Amino acid sequence: MKIGFIGLGIMGKPMSKNLIKAGHELTVFDIVQPAVRELENAGARSARSSKEVASETDLIITMLPDSPDVEKAAFERNGIFEGIRPGSVYIDMSTISPITSRRIAETAEPKRIRVLDAPVSGGEKGAIEGTLTIMVGGAKSVFDECLPVLQAMGKNIVYCGDVGSGQVVKACNQILVAGVLESAGEALVLGAKAGVDPEIVLKVIAGGYAMRVLDVRGPLVLKRDFKPGFKTRLHYKDLSIALAAGSEYGAPLPVTGLIHEMMGAMKVLGRGETDHSAIITILEDLAKVEVKKAG
Ligand code: NAD
Repeated sequence: MKIGFIGLGIMGKPMSKNLIKAGHELTVFDIVQPAVRELENAGARSARSSKEVASETDLIITMLPDSPDVEKAAFERNGIFEGIRPGSVYIDMSTISPITSRRIAETAEPKRIRVLDAPVSGGEKGAIEGTLTIMVGGAKSVFDECLPVLQAMGKNIVYCGDVGSGQVVKACNQILVAGVLESAGEALVLGAKAGVDPEIVLKVIAGGYAMRVLDVRGPLVLKRDFKPGFKTRLHYKDLSIALAAGSEYGAPLPVTGLIHEMMGAMKVLGRGETDHSAIITILEDLAKVEVKKAG
């Protein structure tokens, strides 16, 4: 298949090399020249603009830093939409705003251009090894058609729903990754300040319930089953202990403090006897939504 690839950075370079390895004919473009030369040496043809990439290929992929970069490559002079032909597919694999993805799809539709958003996780290692997780939004028929191309770059390829859904799931993933890293940071800092070997703290928390809690409680939350395994009021008490220790040893715990207050609100609202996973109900109240299994 004739594929165009725009954005040959940390991720785009190995992803495009994997497409060549899978036997696709590649035309590439990047505003930085050394990356383009490297891909030429790997067998790709280079183009002078995103427009030229789009005019020579049937499927165009972008892997750019952020929403404004994608909008620039798509819509500005010499951009993708000046060159793309009706019937072609445009897959944006960058991590960008789902609102931008949806705007691109709206512009593409009257031109009979089919669009997928397909952000990835797995980092540079996953990109090199072709084992990325790819979260895809767009029409299911276009997803099915493009699956073999995506399989050259990733292993776990998940269809998430309409255009923008891939970006929404990626944003959800990033919330969790950041939250785990920050909370683990607070735990390690409290441990270190209170005189416990950080290797021991890490060994205990990384091998313990904290890392399995989503597997255990996630499906129950979707079934709205908040029968207590561990009561919210007892977790509130444990966070009070952690905050008092942090205060005593001089370890500020900002996110723990916030969660402590949310669990305090749960008690005030009469939800102290529910399982601690019912903390989601506070967020649901703020957002006026109930998170439950579809159908
Ligand atoms: P990067 O900065 O290494 O690469 C981006 C490339 O895009 C650069 O080579 C740059 O020259 C090129 N570029 C920028 N604007 C351009 C334009 N208008 N036309 C053509 N080329 C242009 O970034 P990266 O780490 O490869 O990340 C790309 C995307 O993937 C980002 O959205 C990032 O959030 C996401 N992502 C990155 C990782 C990671 O571990 N690096 C993991 C998952 C997802």
